[in-house]
Amino acid sequence: MKSAPQIASVTLAVGMAVLQLSCGDIPADGKERPTPEERPAPEEQPAPEEQPAPEEQPAAGQNVQNQRPEQPSNPAGKAEATPETPAQPPKQVSKSEEEWKKILTPEQFEILRKHGTERPWGKVYDEFKKHGEGAYHCAGCDAELFTSNEKFDARCGWPAFFDASKHENIKTLRDTSFGTIRVEVRCNVCDGHLGHVFTGEGFDTPTDQRYCINGKVLKFVPKAAAGDDASKGKGK
Ligand SMILES: [Zn+2]
Repeated sequence: MKSAPQIASVTLAVGMAVLQLSCGDIPADGKERPTPEERPAPEEQPAPEEQPAPEEQPAAGQNVQNQRPEQPSNPAGKAEATPETPAQPPKQVSKSEEEWKKILTPEQFEILRKHGTERPWGKVYDEFKKHGEGAYHCAGCDAELFTSNEKFDARCGWPAFFDASKHENIKTLRDTSFGTIRVEVRCNVCDGHLGHVFTGEGFDTPTDQRYCINGKVLKFVPKAAAGDDASKGKGK
């Protein structure tokens, strides 16, 4: 049995401790620090060739011509797996963070707009391996980026391509985050982060490049649906 004064002082002590704890817990900037989760092995990348200057593209969101470039067939709510070839976007697509959040899933937003990286060997990778012929479009703006013709099995846990199908829709930038030198791959239309490209790893492909792309930001359009112009009007 404790006497009243004892209980009071214990309560006080606990109260102080809690107070201290909660004060000490608040990070200086109030933000959660992103953990450098798994990322592709930091391959040695002796800057093979200087990146071709990304012409006429000063900085993200700078040369936005008229506002709202007509969002390409992507009403909120239907973010993935569109069976038809999406209409191609205008040259530049620029949106505010809030607007992106409305049309992207949280994971897509994290990858495209915050340079995130999905976990390797996920469900999206299994699906990627099973895809037949078709094209891969940017989940942010619908621009075509790759097709099954450039796809190959790099056994790295992320979708891999040895080249882009529409070079004008891809841009590369030097990325020195995490103390490594890598070449970042972005969508040239919406400036969304897609992944990285590695060169000279010894893959038996026409380019020996590996575009290591986050599958969650790719929208696959099977060939049957794409470019099936001949069968207009024949339901299917
Ligand atoms: Zn895009």
